[in-house]
Amino acid sequence: MRGTIVRMATAGKRRLVVLGTGWGGYAFLKSLSRSTLSQLDVKVVSPTTSFSFTPLLAQASCGTLDFRSALEPIHSTRGIAFHHAWCDALDLCKQRIEVTPASKPEFRPADPLTPTSPTRAQERATTYSIGYDYLVVAVGSYNATYGTEGVKENALFLKDVSDARAIRWRILSAFEGTNAAYPQPLSKEDEEQVRARLGFVVVGGGPTGAEFAAELHDLIRQDLTKIYPHLARLASIKLLDAGKSILSSFDKGLAEYAMQKFARDGIEVVLNARINSVTDQGVWVQNPHGGAELMRAGMVVWSTGITAAPIVKALRGVAKEDRSHKWLTDAKLNLLVHQPARDKGEIRGNIHQPAPDKQEGDVVPMTNVWAIGDCSSQATPLPATAQVANQKGSYLAAVFNASPTHPSAQEPFKFKDKGSMASIGSNEALIDSPVGKDKGALAWLLWRSAYTIMAMSWRNRFLVPANWASNLLFGRDVGRF
Ligand SMILES: Cc1cc2nc3c(=O)[nH]c(=O)nc-3n(C[C@H](O)[C@H](O)[C@H](O)COP(=O)(O)OP(=O)(O)OC[C@H]3O[C@@H](n4cnc5c(N)ncnc54)[C@H](O)[C@@H]3O)c2cc1C
Repeated sequence: MRGTIVRMATAGKRRLVVLGTGWGGYAFLKSLSRSTLSQLDVKVVSPTTSFSFTPLLAQASCGTLDFRSALEPIHSTRGIAFHHAWCDALDLCKQRIEVTPASKPEFRPADPLTPTSPTRAQERATTYSIGYDYLVVAVGSYNATYGTEGVKENALFLKDVSDARAIRWRILSAFEGTNAAYPQPLSKEDEEQVRARLGFVVVGGGPTGAEFAAELHDLIRQDLTKIYPHLARLASIKLLDAGKSILSSFDKGLAEYAMQKFARDGIEVVLNARINSVTDQGVWVQNPHGGAELMRAGMVVWSTGITAAPIVKALRGVAKEDRSHKWLTDAKLNLLVHQPARDKGEIRGNIHQPAPDKQEGDVVPMTNVWAIGDCSSQATPLPATAQVANQKGSYLAAVFNASPTHPSAQEPFKFKDKGSMASIGSNEALIDSPVGKDKGALAWLLWRSAYTIMAMSWRNRFLVPANWASNLLFGRDVGRF
């Protein structure tokens, strides 16, 4: 199939290709009108068959929500062709992308952490190409590890629902396995072993890390303690951050409030933490004397920010932000490219054939290519959030809806900051918005209401509060499957 162009029954229509079905891609597709869809040949390329509602992933990973409540299937009945695949190469001058089929979804009877799918190398044989007239890139970002040794092998990330599933599996199996291995009564030596196995380390004190630590605390103290009281008292949660505070994107007073609450809950916040490496024993943290100490852990969750996706790094001839390597767009979200590279037909990249990039010459917008969400930035950078990606997706859909066959924005994109929220456990949350700041139980009620309303389907608008009500009555889901 390599080198062939997939032709659909929609021949004759202009071809719109969308890369990615996260916040940006999903919001864009969802907001395209029926009329727009009927006038275009729309293809979506994504390695994930569902959209993950990221703000609820911490809850899904700790059994507060069912996994289904935090995702939306993306197979569409609206005439959109879905390619379950990775885009591995782009040639923006030839208006063509190369895609590699993603692993087939499989039922994995054992540990979901064990890969059973064919390797990317095997799959590469079936690579094929797709031509486009319009391209919307919303491939998001990857987890940043800053080259820290052992992170990819020994830590878990929390980026989508399958990560949440792996984390929940690991937490519950840590308790189940420890319970089986250390029958009561526990000796002093047993207790040491149990402490190590049930030590949970979260690296990164941003909203994701802090929310996850808080949810894990609630799962252990409210539910697992009823099943394993002798083990739960020995479990510990440590939240590590390289900076002087956790939740540093929030108002100082709110971040301070969260730290005080975590201290009361027994979540140990370790600031100015420098991680040397992560091993299967835990995390090696630098000490003030130049050495390193092992913080023993049965599970490490790594959430220290984002880095550009390989396909974003690989594309040459495009204007990029200096440190993050995100693609730069103009105010109408059109991709900015270097004129000399465009004139030579060299706006291309392949993740399997990396080549040096020359960032030289004037930049000009590519009027048939747009980049939205975490993979892109603008002259005035915006935060890498769902809110920004969602608003950019909706803005761009409005551009297409206004003129499906010749999309061209009249007005620049304007971000409306609705503020930030974070749940900090035990029915408390923080709200930091342009309208006001709040913390505690009322903020938590607003947090829950907001995420119920923001759910992307009526099904989840029903399921999310139903899950919360069920927890209130029957406790969290602590089953492993
Ligand atoms: C746990 C967690 C909690 C969060 N909570 C909040 C919150 O409360 N509020 C908030 O505003 N933000 C939150 N965020 C941040 C927010 O989720 C991101 O900013 C947002 O997802 C960015 O949207 P995106 O469309 O750019 O990328 P993503 O949502 O990451 O989507 C990227 C898509 O591209 C696909 N893709 C990747 N590579 C390729 C490729 N080569 N070819 C084709 N497709 C590809 C992916 O499979 C995915 O479908 C949270 C993030 C996480 C991880």
